[in-house]
Amino acid sequence: MTAKLTIGLTGGIGSGKSAVAQLLAAWGASVLDADVIAHALTAPGGAAIAPIGEAFGAAMITAGGGLDRSRMRAAVFADPDLRHRLEAILHPRIGQVLQERATQAQGAYLVLVVPLLVEGLGRWRSAVDRIAVVDCAEELQIERVMRRSNLDASQVRAIMATQATRDARRAAADDLIDNGADLAALQARTHELHAQYLQIARHI
Ligand code: ATP
Repeated sequence: MTAKLTIGLTGGIGSGKSAVAQLLAAWGASVLDADVIAHALTAPGGAAIAPIGEAFGAAMITAGGGLDRSRMRAAVFADPDLRHRLEAILHPRIGQVLQERATQAQGAYLVLVVPLLVEGLGRWRSAVDRIAVVDCAEELQIERVMRRSNLDASQVRAIMATQATRDARRAAADDLIDNGADLAALQARTHELHAQYLQIARHI
């Protein structure tokens, strides 16, 4: 994607990706988040709005011209085919924006936060130098997501069922970030990796 050391950071819902990304950014990495880009692409005036309207019908677009998120969420949740169609519109566009922004990144190295990286491993493996996976027990994921949202455990489990399995993510990891303990432990592990990344970045 770029000459700069590029880390693909992923993990299941509520695993702690944002917490890790925030630490790495504070220590001098450039961080680009696929979810933030997806949000912009589907906001009023976003580049994905017209193709979504064509593929899914005008009912998916709000009067304000943005994606009707709750309607789309319900539709793709109920139908994997629709989810794949939406992904076919969004993923290439997200990749393109990431690529453009990556060339301007000023940090010591680049971190791409990609929640569904393992689900699209075929594309991402060659786009990043290393894959870092934030990992914790599924019960902890559920507990953390419930604490920060109004979802109940069965709703969180249903979302997790649409994502890659914990084993698949762990198998794809070059670097595993255990987030099974407190935030201080997460910070210590993340700092260890940051030091390694700086070391690698100096030599490429
Ligand atoms: P999502 O994919 O849903 O965006 P995420 O992987 O980015 O989630 P975070 O938002 O970083 O996960 O963390 C989920 C929640 O759990 C947050 O409220 C965060 O503050 C909390 N959290 C993360 N790690 C820990 C930890 N080790 N101890 C306690 N709380 C934590």
